[in-house]
Amino acid sequence: MKTVYTFGGAADHSDPRQKDKTVTGGKGANLAEMASIGLPVPPGFTITTEECVGYLERGEEFSDKLRGDVAEALGHIEATVGKVLGDKDNPLLVSVRSGARVSMPGMMDTVLNLGLNDETVAGLAATSGDERFAWDSYRRFIQMYSDVVLGLDHGLFEEALEIAKEDKGFYSDTELEAEDWRELVGEYKRIVAEELGRDFPQDVNEQLWGAIRAVFDSWDSDRAKVYRRLNDIPGDWGTAVNVQAMVFGNMGDTSATGVAFTRDPSTGERAYYGEYLINAQGEDVVAGIRTPQYLTKAARETAGATPLSMEEAMPDAYAELARVFDLLETHYRDMQDIEFTVERGTLWMLQTRSGKRTAKAALKMAVDMVGEGLISQEEAILRVDPMALDQLLHPMLDPDAERDVLTTGLPASPGAASGKIVLDADKAELWANGGEKVILVRVETSPEDIHGMHAATGILTARGGMTSHAAVVARGMGRPCVSGAAAVSIDREKRAVRIGERELVEGDVITLDGATGQVMAGKVATLEPELAGDFGTLMDWADAHRRMRVRTNAETPDDCRMARQFGAEGIGLCRTEHMFFDAARISAVREMILASDEKGRRAALDKLLPEQRADFREIFEVMAGLPCTIRLLDPPLHEFLPHGDEEFADLAEATGHSVDQLKRRAGELHEFNPMLGHRGCRLGITFPEIYEMQARAIFEAACEVTKSSGDAPVPEIMIPLVATKRELEILRALVDRVAGEVFGETGYQVEYLVGTMIELPRAALVAGEIAEEARFFSFGTNDLTQTTLGVSRDDAGRFLAPYVERGIFARDPFVSLDVEGVGQLVELAAERGRATCGDIKLGICGEHGGDPASIAFCEGVGLDYVSASPYRVPIARLASAQASLKAKS
Ligand code: PEP
Ligand code: MG
Repeated sequence: MKTVYTFGGAADHSDPRQKDKTVTGGKGANLAEMASIGLPVPPGFTITTEECVGYLERGEEFSDKLRGDVAEALGHIEATVGKVLGDKDNPLLVSVRSGARVSMPGMMDTVLNLGLNDETVAGLAATSGDERFAWDSYRRFIQMYSDVVLGLDHGLFEEALEIAKEDKGFYSDTELEAEDWRELVGEYKRIVAEELGRDFPQDVNEQLWGAIRAVFDSWDSDRAKVYRRLNDIPGDWGTAVNVQAMVFGNMGDTSATGVAFTRDPSTGERAYYGEYLINAQGEDVVAGIRTPQYLTKAARETAGATPLSMEEAMPDAYAELARVFDLLETHYRDMQDIEFTVERGTLWMLQTRSGKRTAKAALKMAVDMVGEGLISQEEAILRVDPMALDQLLHPMLDPDAERDVLTTGLPASPGAASGKIVLDADKAELWANGGEKVILVRVETSPEDIHGMHAATGILTARGGMTSHAAVVARGMGRPCVSGAAAVSIDREKRAVRIGERELVEGDVITLDGATGQVMAGKVATLEPELAGDFGTLMDWADAHRRMRVRTNAETPDDCRMARQFGAEGIGLCRTEHMFFDAARISAVREMILASDEKGRRAALDKLLPEQRADFREIFEVMAGLPCTIRLLDPPLHEFLPHGDEEFADLAEATGHSVDQLKRRAGELHEFNPMLGHRGCRLGITFPEIYEMQARAIFEAACEVTKSSGDAPVPEIMIPLVATKRELEILRALVDRVAGEVFGETGYQVEYLVGTMIELPRAALVAGEIAEEARFFSFGTNDLTQTTLGVSRDDAGRFLAPYVERGIFARDPFVSLDVEGVGQLVELAAERGRATCGDIKLGICGEHGGDPASIAFCEGVGLDYVSASPYRVPIARLASAQASLKAKS
């Protein structure tokens, strides 16, 4: 098996493994692809991910084969460019970069100019005819290599540079001459020797293998592990290493370097988008050290900026770049994120990949590309990550709300966020865990900040452009971000932030508008999202391609209305006990629960009946004839009993009982395991008057709505926590009896179904029998997960995170269905239920109904519908369309 693949020059790119990201990583595969379609790619080679995995398994040992293969591949580069690594007269310089299957912040990024030492620097000066360039390159190399390979703090070198500039009275780096850089190289080498106790490596092979080792090691760095955990990336993929001949964007004013997108990654507009810097090396753009210039004239003019765009300053190279953009989009049939360098007027491509984009841009591009004939509707549906829709479904700033604008930075990632200022990532995580909304405010962010960025609702940085770390990561995470807000300065001592003339302290609330770049004091009002336009178009396509129906879990008319706007096709779960959570009603519920006899219960139920009837009527009206699954009371008692003295006092006043009496009764009702206690249908069996009241409220409301409107509701009455057929038999008879009574009293009749939830392993096992009494099953996978795994829903937080971290569970089983275990029960119950009752309706209403991976599983089992909370309905629509399409292909 090949350990190394060469690309560029006369390399043979025909082995399909070379273009397989699992083997050569995203960067390596795309470099080979670009070279093979004739684009200008500097020659290089890629070490496979398999070698990384082997290296780590062997306890950080390279294989013998790799050593030989790398030497041979280096020969390919040397032959192509006519230079030799380490040659003092005509030295080859290379870059070394990591490249996993998916782009992964947190790993070692890049070492540039590798191959420079005290001898080759003179060779570079001679061959380039530019001594200043040679010494500048050498000091950059020492700084970068020391930072990422030798593990020294890059601040040490920054400081030395600042001191050198100060001593000479220079303001910017461009004022330093060859001799100045040479002196600085001496200083840098001194720093290395002092910090490490050994000299900076002069042997170019040692440099190369040191960099390769650093890339492999960085796969297992803490930062990379955090990123993998947050993004569900397996730890055994490994990373590839790309070694490539250097091209120089810092060879004077006809050279440049830049990053670009073939379309706008924030809005999705079809316009080239990017930044470049004349006379600079790649990392200068990303690091935010110098402010990059616009790529196109139009973008420069819109921003009102003066430094010339690349289109104006380098028209020939720009025209070539535009030609490459179009070629790449047609080839990959997707928006590309590109790195390029212009060396003395000649364009070189250093990277291309499918570009990260905001949800808004993803939608717009998918819809536009169908219009352009670039992709099909099916591809458009498959291209948008359902979870990314979340970004679009949340409120935006109200344009009419008062804004106290403190400053405006770059609109780096859209969406609005308000929260308390925090100045470091650890605190962001701490406060967020405590339930606070926080805005992480930093000079710039780095991979060490990932956990804080994840915990924050928004990110504000003082430095960095639209492609800075903060901007790229925030867009990927869907966090609103304003970057490069130069008026922001941070005083870490005082834990304060100065923005222009104003001073704020940690804990003060600010609002960010990631769409405009505005930073505002206090909390600003927000508006509901826009669901028409591209969103509507894509959703229409998704609806046309999905088999499963999408319902919602909702119990208030407002939630139902919202869910219908999001496209819900019915209610999959109306938790009636949640209808009693508000302060005015809970005391009647508590009175019912605490009543010591049937008479007391009935008195409380009489108070609840009209309330329930009115709720159901409104819900039926909103749902206008769509199916509504209403679950009869399922209160784990501990959620409803009064807690503190105040609640007991209120209840005493409302019921006329003494606090002591109530406390005694609450004591009698105390359960050791309320989740496995007197809840669900057990309550209906022991206190039938409760379910009678609820059934009556449902049927009376349904008859009233039938009378007053043409849209007759179809209630689906659902019995929770059933374990045996007999339970369902008894309660179904109760519901049928009440229906008959109400129909007789009102003279109206509605269609209805009685069914059950499958929430217990026993119910799943005897589903064939239960189906004799049920017209539908709804999988309550929250309880089914709890009861199958024997993991308490309420206590799992304490140990689930380490379980997921250690890979015991691939994901939190309450978020994404445990397909292997719980999934088997779902499958089996569906099969057995159908065997008894061929047209039994099957759905899912646990939280998993809004999780794309679980939805794909439901498609496989052939469920009729999934039910999700209102904001998740569009996610479920898109995910089930994707599942349908994948099932067909
Ligand atoms: C379930 O158990 O999956 C369910 C939907 O019911 P609840 O979450 O109300 O227990
Ligand atoms: Mg349940």
